[in-house]
Amino acid sequence: MDQNIKNVEIRLDNIEVLTSGATAEFVNGILDFLLYQRRQIPFVYKTYKYYVDKWSDADKSGESEAQESFAHYQRNQQRSKAKATKKSISDMREIIRQAFGSSKVKSLRFLFGNNTFMPSEAYTLHIPHDSISRDHYCDHHALPEGRINQALLRLLTCEELYTLFSTELNTTNVFLEIELLTDIVPCDFGNLIPKHVSSKLPRSCKNIHLHLLHCSENTQNELRCCKEMDIYQDLGLLNLDKSGADVSKTNEEQDLLKAASETSGWWQAEVIVRGFRAPGNQKSGDLWTS
Ligand SMILES: [Zn+2]
Repeated sequence: MDQNIKNVEIRLDNIEVLTSGATAEFVNGILDFLLYQRRQIPFVYKTYKYYVDKWSDADKSGESEAQESFAHYQRNQQRSKAKATKKSISDMREIIRQAFGSSKVKSLRFLFGNNTFMPSEAYTLHIPHDSISRDHYCDHHALPEGRINQALLRLLTCEELYTLFSTELNTTNVFLEIELLTDIVPCDFGNLIPKHVSSKLPRSCKNIHLHLLHCSENTQNELRCCKEMDIYQDLGLLNLDKSGADVSKTNEEQDLLKAASETSGWWQAEVIVRGFRAPGNQKSGDLWTS
C-alpha cells in the first residue's frame, strides 16, 4: 500500500444524537484545526478572526487613515491580504454548513497546494452519514465546543500524524471538494463546480483519511425528544420510520434504494483559502496589535 496513505479515526463520544448541523460544525472545527496546524494562519481561527474584525472596525471609524509612510502602506497591504484570507475561510465554512443543510454529505476533501492537480497534502473526511439523524433539531443537539476540542486534541497527539504535523508547510492554497449523495447539482448554492470524480492525487501527496465515527449507546429511534412534535408523531402512526419501512420492502426494492443512496457526485468549492503569513522582515507584532 502507498505509504503516503494514512487512516485515522476520529470519534465523537457521548453524543446521543448527531444532527447534520452538528456534523457541519465538527467539520468546520477540523478545517480550523488544519489551517492553524498546517501554518496557513498565524493564530487559531477564532483569534485570527478577532484581530481582523478589529481592524475592520477601526477602518470604519476612520482611525487608521492618518499616516502616509511607506511602513504604514506596507502594513495596510498585509492587512488587506489577511482580511481576504479571513473572508475566504468564513465563506468556506458557510459552504460546508450549506452542504450539510441541503444534502447528504458522504465525504469532503481539503487539498493543500498551489493547485488541485499537485497538492502536497490532502485530508479526506469520511462522514458517518448513516448515523446522522434527520428527526432531530440541530438547536436541541448542538455539539459542545469542549467535545469538538477533545476530538481535535486526540488528532494532535495521534501517532500516525505526528511526523506529518512536525514538518513545515509553506503558505499555500486550500481547496475544498465535497462528495454529495446525489447526482443532481444542488441549485440553492451556486458556488460549487461539478466534477466527475475527486481530484487524483499525485504519489508525492500526503494522503490522510479521517474517518469520523459516531458512537452512541442509544439507538436514535428510541430518542423521542424532538419527536414530541406532531409531524413526527404522525409519521410514527403511519409506521414510516426506518425500522418499519425496512421490513415491508422486498429485497429488490431495498437494492434499488441502496443503489440510489450510493449514487454520489463530487463538487469543488469556488472559494479558495490563500494562506496568510506576515513577511519575516516586518515586526509581526506591529501588524496585529498596533
Ligand atoms: Zn431530539
